[in-house]
Amino acid sequence: MTKYGMVMDVTKCNGCYNCFLACRDEHCGNEFPAYSASQPHTGHYWMRVVEKERGRYPKVKVAYTAIPCMHCDKPRCVEVAQGGEEPGAIYQRADGIVLIDPERSAGRKDLLSSCPYRVIFWNEEKRLPQKCTFCAHLLDRGWAEPRCVEACPTRALVFGDLDDPKSEVAKLVASGRTEALRPEYEMGDKVTYIGLPKRFVAGAVVFGDSDKCGEGAKVTLEGTGTPRTTVADNYGDFEFESLPAGGSYTVRVEAVGYDTRELAARTNQDVYLGDVVLDASGGR
Ligand code: SF4
Ligand code: SF4
Repeated sequence: MTKYGMVMDVTKCNGCYNCFLACRDEHCGNEFPAYSASQPHTGHYWMRVVEKERGRYPKVKVAYTAIPCMHCDKPRCVEVAQGGEEPGAIYQRADGIVLIDPERSAGRKDLLSSCPYRVIFWNEEKRLPQKCTFCAHLLDRGWAEPRCVEACPTRALVFGDLDDPKSEVAKLVASGRTEALRPEYEMGDKVTYIGLPKRFVAGAVVFGDSDKCGEGAKVTLEGTGTPRTTVADNYGDFEFESLPAGGSYTVRVEAVGYDTRELAARTNQDVYLGDVVLDASGGR
């Protein structure tokens, strides 16, 4: 049995918005009876690209996360739609796709608040709730993937059959690298993510006696979780990525011939330690 799903690799996304635009191109002004009414020209983000700026000058990073409907295994929207005069206004197909019935959902503005991800939008002109359909009208005609995935130039979006162990999407999920955008919702998201932005600790090592970049210095991060070690690059830069928020750490910087330094870092926010200057051992 086919079960459709998607993996989004945040580390591959360059924020080009092609996915968003492909969705608009497919759905604006186009009616797909039984699947979806046309999307209005403004105000809807069936595939939303969220930009998150991290860190502070001079260490600033930007991450883009593409967010469609998660086509959850346990969709709260479907639960809520069971009530009301027209049960079945939102339903889940056997292949896992969650669809809003464009006829049964007429007037059901209340359904917008049923989704904690807030991916259901209101079409004022048509008086309809609407959202991403995974382009089910195309899949049913033999397409392998929705328009957004087809349009992604970096392959940050991977789509396919989660029940086929040979599919790329199933392999990514099996790798254990994927996670739900908001696991606390516990809805069995079938859109999962790699590389979601978390916290980083970074800095730049400088050899104090020569004022040169501290290339090759060993940097160790100890504290919350498993200790990690890295080596400063040819600019003296080092970085520890994907750390949990609220962690408490000691950063130890060592190099042969220099005094070791230890600095504290708390990941309530991203941390840039700036220049970490190592003095030559014994003041030599
Ligand atoms: S993400 Fe929201 S709209 Fe989509 S299936 Fe889950 S609960 Fe429903
Ligand atoms: S098309 Fe791909 S690279 Fe471009 S914003 Fe969407 S997910 Fe990112």
